[in-house]
Amino acid sequence: MVFIHDTEMSLRAAAALVNTLPETDTAGADRLLSQAELDAYLAEFSYTGAFRRDETELAAVRANRPRLRELWDVDRDGAVPLVNAMLRDGRALPQLVIHDGFDWHIHATEPEAPLATRMLVESAMAFVDVIRSDEWGRVRVCAADDCQSVYVDFSKNGSKRYCDTGNCGNRMNVNAYRRRKARESA
Ligand SMILES: [Zn+2]
Ligand SMILES: [Zn+2]
Repeated sequence: MVFIHDTEMSLRAAAALVNTLPETDTAGADRLLSQAELDAYLAEFSYTGAFRRDETELAAVRANRPRLRELWDVDRDGAVPLVNAMLRDGRALPQLVIHDGFDWHIHATEPEAPLATRMLVESAMAFVDVIRSDEWGRVRVCAADDCQSVYVDFSKNGSKRYCDTGNCGNRMNVNAYRRRKARESA
């Protein structure tokens, strides 16, 4: 296990949120336009606390995306001011809590804080762990030449090259195979 479970889940949630951006989608589609799409996201990555389920909340969650996306463009030192700003803006105050069948974990925001704030701070707390454990090299963009999806590599040896969102690895292997065949028959 590279990171503790909470951290891994938060990093997966952050990457999945970023991957709803149109620039990460091969078809250029925005995958977080409606309450239904936010509901689907929250069904996969559950958050506790208050939900407004209105346009303001959706807009605020959407606005988290480019801010989180920046983390995939910087190195470890460059990530520090971005993560600190998220913690500061979210008025993070880490507290150990236990609820709903989860074991002891950290909440750094009040349950009444806006959903987008809770999401941003939780992501920031997870990236704190990545920085502290000096594993920033695991924060990566898919290596497929036609995919801009982001991911965090949780593999033991840190050798994962492609995102989780499709079959980028297979597609690149097929492409390489075709290129090799084309060369051989030329
Ligand atoms: Zn909790
Ligand atoms: Zn990919």
